[in-house]
Amino acid sequence: MSEPVSALAKPSYQRFAAAFVQWFDSDHTPDGPEKMRAEPDRVDWPRCIPFIILHAGCLGVIWVGWSPFAVGLTFALYVVRMFAVTGIYHRYFSHRTYSTSRGGQFFLALWGATAVQRGALWWAYHHRHHHQHSDDPEDAHSPHVHGFWWSHIGWITSRRNFPTDYSKVKDLAKFPELVLLNRFDTVIPILLAVAIIGAGQLLAHYAPGLHTSGAQLLVWGFFVSTTALFHGTSCINSMAHLMGRRRFKTGDDSRNSFILAIICLGEGWHNNHHRYMHCTRQGFYWWEIDLTYYGLKALSWTGLISNLKPVPAAILAEAAHADHHATIAAAAHAAHTHPEFSPLKKVFPTAAAIAVATATAAQATMSKNADELATRKDVASLMHDSAKQNPPVGSQAS
Ligand SMILES: [Zn+2]
Ligand SMILES: [Zn+2]
Repeated sequence: MSEPVSALAKPSYQRFAAAFVQWFDSDHTPDGPEKMRAEPDRVDWPRCIPFIILHAGCLGVIWVGWSPFAVGLTFALYVVRMFAVTGIYHRYFSHRTYSTSRGGQFFLALWGATAVQRGALWWAYHHRHHHQHSDDPEDAHSPHVHGFWWSHIGWITSRRNFPTDYSKVKDLAKFPELVLLNRFDTVIPILLAVAIIGAGQLLAHYAPGLHTSGAQLLVWGFFVSTTALFHGTSCINSMAHLMGRRRFKTGDDSRNSFILAIICLGEGWHNNHHRYMHCTRQGFYWWEIDLTYYGLKALSWTGLISNLKPVPAAILAEAAHADHHATIAAAAHAAHTHPEFSPLKKVFPTAAAIAVATATAAQATMSKNADELATRKDVASLMHDSAKQNPPVGSQAS
Protein backbone atom coordinates (compact mmCIF):
# COMPACT_ATOMS: atom_id res chain seq x y z
CA MET A 1 0.00 0.00 0.00
CA SER A 2 1.37 3.38 -0.89
CA GLU A 3 1.14 6.32 1.53
CA PRO A 4 -0.38 9.57 0.18
CA VAL A 5 2.35 11.93 -0.96
CA SER A 6 2.70 14.69 1.62
CA ALA A 7 3.04 18.27 0.43
CA LEU A 8 6.60 18.41 1.74
CA ALA A 9 7.57 15.34 -0.32
CA LYS A 10 6.28 16.90 -3.55
CA PRO A 11 8.69 18.34 -6.13
CA SER A 12 9.72 21.88 -5.18
CA TYR A 13 8.23 23.41 -8.35
CA GLN A 14 4.80 22.00 -7.39
CA ARG A 15 5.13 23.36 -3.87
CA PHE A 16 6.18 26.72 -5.23
CA ALA A 17 3.28 26.78 -7.72
CA ALA A 18 0.80 25.99 -4.93
CA ALA A 19 2.33 28.66 -2.69
CA PHE A 20 2.15 31.21 -5.51
CA VAL A 21 -1.59 30.62 -5.89
CA GLN A 22 -2.00 30.77 -2.10
CA TRP A 23 -0.43 34.23 -2.02
CA PHE A 24 -3.66 35.43 -3.64
CA ASP A 25 -6.15 32.68 -2.76
CA SER A 26 -5.56 31.55 0.79
CA ASP A 27 -8.21 28.79 0.56
CA HIS A 28 -6.28 27.04 -2.23
CA THR A 29 -5.22 23.78 -0.57
CA PRO A 30 -4.43 20.99 -3.09
CA ASP A 31 -4.14 18.42 -0.27
CA GLY A 32 -7.14 19.69 1.67
CA PRO A 33 -7.02 21.89 4.76
CA GLU A 34 -7.41 18.96 7.19
CA LYS A 35 -4.28 17.28 5.89
CA MET A 36 -2.34 20.54 6.06
CA ARG A 37 -3.39 21.13 9.66
CA ALA A 38 -2.30 17.59 10.58
CA GLU A 39 1.27 18.15 9.36
CA PRO A 40 4.06 18.82 11.84
CA ASP A 41 5.17 22.41 12.34
CA ARG A 42 7.55 23.46 9.58
CA VAL A 43 8.27 26.80 7.92
CA ASP A 44 6.71 27.02 4.45
CA TRP A 45 9.35 29.22 2.81
CA PRO A 46 7.70 29.69 -0.63
CA ARG A 47 4.45 30.66 1.07
CA CYS A 48 6.29 33.16 3.27
CA ILE A 49 7.97 35.11 0.46
CA PRO A 50 5.47 38.04 0.68
CA PHE A 51 6.09 38.15 4.44
CA ILE A 52 9.85 38.23 3.85
CA ILE A 53 9.40 40.98 1.25
CA LEU A 54 7.41 42.97 3.82
CA HIS A 55 10.40 42.93 6.19
CA ALA A 56 13.00 43.44 3.46
CA GLY A 57 11.03 46.43 2.16
CA CYS A 58 11.97 48.33 5.32
CA LEU A 59 15.54 48.48 4.01
CA GLY A 60 14.20 50.75 1.29
CA VAL A 61 14.74 53.69 3.68
CA ILE A 62 18.38 53.55 2.57
CA TRP A 63 17.34 54.71 -0.91
CA VAL A 64 14.23 56.78 -0.32
CA GLY A 65 15.43 58.72 2.74
CA TRP A 66 12.90 60.16 5.10
CA SER A 67 10.69 63.19 5.64
CA PRO A 68 8.63 64.33 8.63
CA PHE A 69 5.48 63.65 6.61
CA ALA A 70 6.51 60.06 5.84
CA VAL A 71 7.35 59.36 9.49
CA GLY A 72 4.07 60.96 10.63
CA LEU A 73 2.11 58.81 8.17
CA THR A 74 3.94 55.71 9.43
CA PHE A 75 2.89 56.48 12.99
CA ALA A 76 -0.68 57.34 12.01
CA LEU A 77 -1.08 54.13 9.99
CA TYR A 78 0.38 52.16 12.88
CA VAL A 79 -2.19 53.56 15.33
CA VAL A 80 -5.19 53.33 12.99
CA ARG A 81 -4.34 49.75 12.03
CA MET A 82 -3.36 48.64 15.54
CA PHE A 83 -6.85 49.77 16.46
CA ALA A 84 -8.13 47.62 13.57
CA VAL A 85 -6.31 44.58 14.96
CA THR A 86 -7.28 45.08 18.60
CA GLY A 87 -10.67 46.76 18.32
CA ILE A 88 -11.91 44.88 15.26
CA TYR A 89 -10.14 41.54 14.65
CA HIS A 90 -9.77 40.84 18.35
CA ARG A 91 -12.63 42.46 20.23
CA TYR A 92 -15.26 42.08 17.51
CA PHE A 93 -14.51 39.12 15.24
CA SER A 94 -12.80 36.93 17.83
CA HIS A 95 -14.89 37.71 20.90
CA ARG A 96 -17.99 39.60 19.70
CA THR A 97 -17.76 42.07 22.59
CA TYR A 98 -20.04 44.57 20.83
CA SER A 99 -22.62 44.64 18.05
CA THR A 100 -22.89 46.21 14.62
CA SER A 101 -25.04 45.90 11.51
CA ARG A 102 -24.14 43.57 8.65
CA GLY A 103 -22.93 46.54 6.60
CA GLY A 104 -20.99 47.80 9.60
CA GLN A 105 -19.46 44.35 10.04
CA PHE A 106 -18.27 44.35 6.41
CA PHE A 107 -16.80 47.83 6.84
CA LEU A 108 -14.98 46.63 9.98
CA ALA A 109 -13.65 43.60 8.08
CA LEU A 110 -12.30 45.90 5.34
CA TRP A 111 -10.68 48.14 7.94
CA GLY A 112 -9.19 45.11 9.71
CA ALA A 113 -7.76 43.78 6.45
CA THR A 114 -5.63 46.92 6.04
CA ALA A 115 -3.53 45.62 8.97
CA VAL A 116 -2.06 42.93 6.64
CA GLN A 117 -2.63 40.20 9.24
CA ARG A 118 -4.64 38.00 6.91
CA GLY A 119 -8.42 37.67 6.99
CA ALA A 120 -10.74 38.30 9.92
CA LEU A 121 -11.91 34.67 9.99
CA TRP A 122 -8.38 33.23 9.95
CA TRP A 123 -7.41 35.63 12.75
CA ALA A 124 -10.49 34.83 14.84
CA TYR A 125 -10.12 31.06 14.33
CA HIS A 126 -6.53 31.08 15.58
CA HIS A 127 -7.28 33.44 18.42
CA ARG A 128 -10.23 31.42 19.72
CA HIS A 129 -8.02 28.33 19.54
CA HIS A 130 -5.43 30.19 21.64
CA HIS A 131 -8.00 30.89 24.36
CA GLN A 132 -9.10 27.23 24.37
CA HIS A 133 -5.58 25.88 24.67
CA SER A 134 -3.56 28.73 26.23
CA ASP A 135 -0.06 27.61 27.08
CA ASP A 136 -0.79 23.93 26.56
CA PRO A 137 0.83 21.85 23.77
CA GLU A 138 -2.09 22.56 21.41
CA ASP A 139 -1.53 26.34 21.63
CA ALA A 140 -0.01 27.42 18.30
CA HIS A 141 1.91 30.32 19.83
CA SER A 142 2.76 29.67 23.46
CA PRO A 143 6.25 30.89 24.43
CA HIS A 144 6.27 28.29 27.23
CA VAL A 145 5.62 25.37 24.89
CA HIS A 146 7.35 26.44 21.67
CA GLY A 147 9.87 29.06 22.81
CA PHE A 148 9.90 32.83 22.37
CA TRP A 149 10.68 33.13 18.65
CA TRP A 150 8.18 30.50 17.55
CA SER A 151 5.44 32.22 19.58
CA HIS A 152 6.45 35.61 18.22
CA ILE A 153 6.94 34.92 14.50
CA GLY A 154 7.56 31.22 13.77
CA TRP A 155 4.02 29.94 14.13
CA ILE A 156 2.71 32.29 11.45
CA THR A 157 5.16 30.81 8.91
CA SER A 158 4.17 27.21 9.61
CA ARG A 159 2.35 25.51 6.77
CA ARG A 160 -0.16 23.83 9.08
CA ASN A 161 -1.33 27.22 10.39
CA PHE A 162 -2.20 28.76 7.00
CA PRO A 163 -5.68 27.30 6.32
CA THR A 164 -8.71 28.75 8.08
CA ASP A 165 -10.88 26.20 9.88
CA TYR A 166 -14.28 27.63 9.01
CA SER A 167 -16.02 25.06 11.22
CA LYS A 168 -14.53 26.82 14.27
CA VAL A 169 -15.92 30.23 13.26
CA LYS A 170 -19.37 29.26 12.04
CA ASP A 171 -20.92 32.46 13.41
CA LEU A 172 -18.71 34.41 10.96
CA ALA A 173 -18.51 31.90 8.11
CA LYS A 174 -22.26 32.25 7.49
CA PHE A 175 -21.56 35.64 5.87
CA PRO A 176 -20.29 35.01 2.30
CA GLU A 177 -18.83 38.52 2.03
CA LEU A 178 -16.60 37.82 5.04
CA VAL A 179 -15.51 34.46 3.63
CA LEU A 180 -14.66 36.14 0.32
CA LEU A 181 -12.52 38.78 2.05
CA ASN A 182 -10.88 36.09 4.13
CA ARG A 183 -10.09 33.98 1.10
CA PHE A 184 -8.55 36.77 -0.96
CA ASP A 185 -6.79 38.36 1.97
CA THR A 186 -4.08 40.13 -0.03
CA VAL A 187 -6.49 42.28 -2.06
CA ILE A 188 -6.99 45.00 0.57
CA PRO A 189 -3.27 45.21 1.49
CA ILE A 190 -2.37 45.55 -2.22
CA LEU A 191 -5.00 48.28 -2.66
CA LEU A 192 -3.64 50.07 0.42
CA ALA A 193 -0.09 49.96 -0.93
CA VAL A 194 -1.26 51.30 -4.32
CA ALA A 195 -3.25 54.08 -2.60
CA ILE A 196 -0.17 55.06 -0.55
CA ILE A 197 2.01 55.20 -3.67
CA GLY A 198 -0.64 57.30 -5.45
CA ALA A 199 -0.91 59.70 -2.51
CA GLY A 200 2.87 60.08 -2.44
CA GLN A 201 3.01 60.81 -6.16
CA LEU A 202 0.26 63.42 -5.84
CA LEU A 203 1.98 65.08 -2.89
CA ALA A 204 5.32 65.13 -4.71
CA HIS A 205 3.57 67.01 -7.51
CA TYR A 206 1.21 69.31 -5.61
CA ALA A 207 3.03 69.74 -2.29
CA PRO A 208 6.76 69.58 -3.05
CA GLY A 209 7.44 71.31 0.27
CA LEU A 210 6.68 68.01 2.05
CA HIS A 211 9.74 66.46 0.35
CA THR A 212 8.07 63.11 -0.11
CA SER A 213 7.31 60.75 -2.98
CA GLY A 214 5.35 57.62 -3.83
CA ALA A 215 8.37 55.38 -3.20
CA GLN A 216 9.14 57.06 0.13
CA LEU A 217 5.58 56.73 1.40
CA LEU A 218 5.43 53.09 0.23
CA VAL A 219 8.55 52.24 2.23
CA TRP A 220 7.55 54.15 5.37
CA GLY A 221 3.75 54.04 5.33
CA PHE A 222 3.44 50.45 4.15
CA PHE A 223 6.60 48.42 4.80
CA VAL A 224 7.90 50.04 8.00
CA SER A 225 4.48 50.70 9.52
CA THR A 226 3.14 47.21 8.71
CA THR A 227 6.28 45.46 9.98
CA ALA A 228 6.15 47.44 13.24
CA LEU A 229 2.45 46.64 13.48
CA PHE A 230 3.11 42.94 13.04
CA HIS A 231 5.79 42.84 15.74
CA GLY A 232 3.75 45.02 18.11
CA THR A 233 0.81 42.63 17.77
CA SER A 234 3.09 39.59 18.08
CA CYS A 235 4.33 40.88 21.43
CA ILE A 236 0.94 39.90 22.83
CA ASN A 237 1.48 36.30 21.72
CA SER A 238 5.01 36.17 23.06
CA MET A 239 5.71 38.86 25.71
CA ALA A 240 2.22 39.04 27.25
CA HIS A 241 2.68 35.46 28.43
CA LEU A 242 6.12 36.21 29.87
CA MET A 243 6.33 39.81 31.13
CA GLY A 244 4.14 41.58 33.68
CA ARG A 245 1.95 40.87 36.64
CA ARG A 246 -0.65 38.16 37.11
CA ARG A 247 -3.71 39.52 38.88
CA PHE A 248 -5.90 36.48 38.20
CA LYS A 249 -4.82 32.88 38.64
CA THR A 250 -5.83 31.82 35.14
CA GLY A 251 -4.95 28.38 33.81
CA ASP A 252 -2.29 29.93 31.55
CA ASP A 253 0.60 32.31 32.13
CA SER A 254 -1.04 35.48 30.75
CA ARG A 255 0.14 38.75 32.29
CA ASN A 256 -0.78 42.42 32.64
CA SER A 257 1.81 44.88 31.33
CA PHE A 258 1.54 48.66 31.11
CA ILE A 259 4.29 48.82 28.46
CA LEU A 260 2.50 46.32 26.21
CA ALA A 261 -0.78 48.14 26.83
CA ILE A 262 0.77 51.30 25.37
CA ILE A 263 2.41 49.53 22.40
CA CYS A 264 -0.78 47.62 21.58
CA LEU A 265 -3.41 50.21 22.55
CA GLY A 266 -4.75 48.36 25.59
CA GLU A 267 -4.04 44.73 24.73
CA GLY A 268 -1.32 44.59 27.37
CA TRP A 269 -3.94 43.86 30.06
CA HIS A 270 -3.76 40.31 28.81
CA ASN A 271 -4.26 38.57 32.16
CA ASN A 272 -7.49 40.55 32.65
CA HIS A 273 -8.51 39.45 29.16
CA HIS A 274 -7.73 35.79 29.74
CA ARG A 275 -9.78 35.90 32.92
CA TYR A 276 -12.78 37.42 31.15
CA MET A 277 -12.73 37.72 27.37
CA HIS A 278 -16.33 38.75 26.77
CA CYS A 279 -16.18 42.43 27.80
CA THR A 280 -15.16 45.24 25.45
CA ARG A 281 -12.55 46.74 27.72
CA GLN A 282 -9.35 45.01 28.80
CA GLY A 283 -8.15 47.67 31.21
CA PHE A 284 -10.55 47.06 34.08
CA TYR A 285 -9.80 50.33 35.94
CA TRP A 286 -9.27 53.92 34.85
CA TRP A 287 -5.52 53.66 35.45
CA GLU A 288 -5.26 50.63 33.18
CA ILE A 289 -4.94 52.67 29.98
CA ASP A 290 -6.92 51.03 27.18
CA LEU A 291 -6.87 53.26 24.09
CA THR A 292 -8.76 50.73 21.99
CA TYR A 293 -11.66 50.84 24.42
CA TYR A 294 -11.76 54.65 24.31
CA GLY A 295 -11.78 54.45 20.49
CA LEU A 296 -14.60 51.90 20.50
CA LYS A 297 -16.56 54.06 22.94
CA ALA A 298 -16.16 57.00 20.53
CA LEU A 299 -17.25 54.80 17.61
CA SER A 300 -20.38 53.82 19.55
CA TRP A 301 -21.38 57.50 19.65
CA THR A 302 -21.40 57.53 15.83
CA GLY A 303 -23.86 54.63 15.76
CA LEU A 304 -21.53 52.32 13.80
CA ILE A 305 -21.27 49.95 16.77
CA SER A 306 -23.39 49.41 19.88
CA ASN A 307 -23.97 47.22 22.92
CA LEU A 308 -20.42 47.44 24.29
CA LYS A 309 -20.22 44.76 26.97
CA PRO A 310 -19.12 45.90 30.44
CA VAL A 311 -16.90 44.10 32.92
CA PRO A 312 -19.28 42.12 35.20
CA ALA A 313 -19.42 43.20 38.85
CA ALA A 314 -18.38 39.70 39.96
CA ILE A 315 -15.16 39.96 37.93
CA LEU A 316 -14.40 43.42 39.37
CA ALA A 317 -14.98 42.05 42.88
CA GLU A 318 -12.62 39.18 42.12
CA ALA A 319 -10.04 41.69 40.86
CA ALA A 320 -10.36 43.79 44.04
CA HIS A 321 -10.01 40.66 46.16
CA ALA A 322 -6.92 39.56 44.19
CA ASP A 323 -5.33 43.03 44.45
CA HIS A 324 -5.99 43.11 48.21
CA HIS A 325 -4.28 39.76 48.69
CA ALA A 326 -1.39 40.81 46.45
CA THR A 327 -0.82 43.88 48.66
CA ILE A 328 -0.82 41.76 51.82
CA ALA A 329 1.52 39.22 50.22
CA ALA A 330 3.89 42.02 49.14
CA ALA A 331 3.95 43.45 52.69
CA ALA A 332 4.57 40.00 54.17
CA HIS A 333 7.35 39.41 51.67
CA ALA A 334 8.99 42.73 52.60
CA ALA A 335 8.78 41.82 56.31
CA HIS A 336 10.47 38.47 55.69
CA THR A 337 13.20 39.83 53.54
CA HIS A 338 16.69 39.24 54.95
CA PRO A 339 17.53 42.17 57.28
CA GLU A 340 20.68 42.94 55.32
CA PHE A 341 18.61 43.51 52.19
CA SER A 342 15.46 44.85 53.77
CA PRO A 343 14.46 48.21 52.33
CA LEU A 344 13.12 49.05 55.82
CA LYS A 345 16.67 48.93 57.14
CA LYS A 346 17.47 51.84 54.88
CA VAL A 347 14.19 53.62 55.37
CA PHE A 348 14.17 53.69 59.18
CA PRO A 349 17.65 55.18 59.77
CA THR A 350 17.05 57.71 57.02
CA ALA A 351 13.70 58.70 58.49
CA ALA A 352 15.24 58.89 61.98
CA ALA A 353 18.10 61.06 60.74
CA ILE A 354 15.66 63.40 59.00
CA ALA A 355 13.55 63.60 62.18
CA VAL A 356 16.57 64.36 64.40
CA ALA A 357 17.90 66.95 61.96
CA THR A 358 14.49 68.63 61.77
CA ALA A 359 14.11 68.68 65.56
CA THR A 360 17.64 70.08 66.05
CA ALA A 361 17.05 72.75 63.45
CA ALA A 362 13.72 73.63 65.06
CA GLN A 363 15.34 73.78 68.52
CA ALA A 364 18.12 75.99 67.20
CA THR A 365 15.62 78.30 65.54
CA MET A 366 13.51 78.46 68.68
CA SER A 367 16.45 79.29 70.96
CA LYS A 368 17.78 81.76 68.41
CA ASN A 369 14.37 83.43 68.34
CA ALA A 370 14.24 83.41 72.14
CA ASP A 371 17.75 84.94 72.36
CA GLU A 372 16.85 87.60 69.83
CA LEU A 373 13.70 88.40 71.79
CA ALA A 374 15.67 88.70 75.01
CA THR A 375 18.32 90.85 73.35
CA ARG A 376 15.72 93.17 71.85
CA LYS A 377 14.05 93.37 75.26
CA ASP A 378 17.36 94.20 76.97
CA VAL A 379 18.26 96.83 74.35
CA ALA A 380 14.83 98.42 74.72
CA SER A 381 15.08 98.61 78.49
CA LEU A 382 18.61 99.93 78.29
CA MET A 383 17.47 102.65 75.90
CA HIS A 384 14.56 103.40 78.20
CA ASP A 385 16.85 103.68 81.26
CA SER A 386 19.35 105.75 79.33
CA ALA A 387 16.58 108.11 78.20
CA LYS A 388 15.48 108.57 81.79
CA GLN A 389 19.01 109.32 82.99
CA ASN A 390 19.93 111.59 80.06
CA PRO A 391 16.82 113.47 78.94
CA PRO A 392 17.00 115.26 75.54
CA VAL A 393 18.19 118.84 75.56
CA GLY A 394 14.80 120.22 74.52
CA SER A 395 13.00 118.46 77.34
CA GLN A 396 15.44 119.73 79.93
CA ALA A 397 14.73 123.30 78.85
CA SER A 398 10.99 122.71 79.16
ZN1 LIG B 1 -2.91 34.98 25.42
ZN1 LIG C 1 -8.68 37.24 23.10
